[in-house]
Amino acid sequence: MLNRIWAPWRAHYIQLASTSLESAPECFLCRGLASQEDRENLVVERRLNSFVVLNRYPYNNGHLLVAPCVHRGTLGELEGAELLEPIETVRRMIAILDRMLRPGGYNIGLNQGRAAGAGLPGHLHWHIVPRWDGDTNFMPILGHTKVIVESLQEFYDRLLEELGRDQA
Ligand SMILES: [Zn+2]
Repeated sequence: MLNRIWAPWRAHYIQLASTSLESAPECFLCRGLASQEDRENLVVERRLNSFVVLNRYPYNNGHLLVAPCVHRGTLGELEGAELLEPIETVRRMIAILDRMLRPGGYNIGLNQGRAAGAGLPGHLHWHIVPRWDGDTNFMPILGHTKVIVESLQEFYDRLLEELGRDQA
């Protein structure tokens, strides 16, 4: 689905993911949801059945994760609003990212199961990756720099401001 992007900062994430994160207390999504420290955990939005976090090891600027609030690893385990609300949230976040970053497109994807590439197989989450024409070409050089320069916290604050505006 995604073009291969050289992303050395993901090595840390892959290391973390290889230690088992099956159970909820060890799940960074559940931990973020249970904690009050939204900025520290990069939790952007909380809704009744879904929530949004910034990916700490992004493929691209603005890379978001949308997850159901329940710790479930397959779509078959979700019912009603648990299943439907995350998709509504994905659509809402895309509208926000359109205004903030004006990307040319998005990769929107769900990896179910470790064999499919899920780094956190116990807790489903949709990736939203903004894409720009040619970003695979300049990513190896600029991508890394951009992620470091526009820090996640800074982007987090911009996103929160934008969400506030959206709700007003
Ligand atoms: Zn979880």
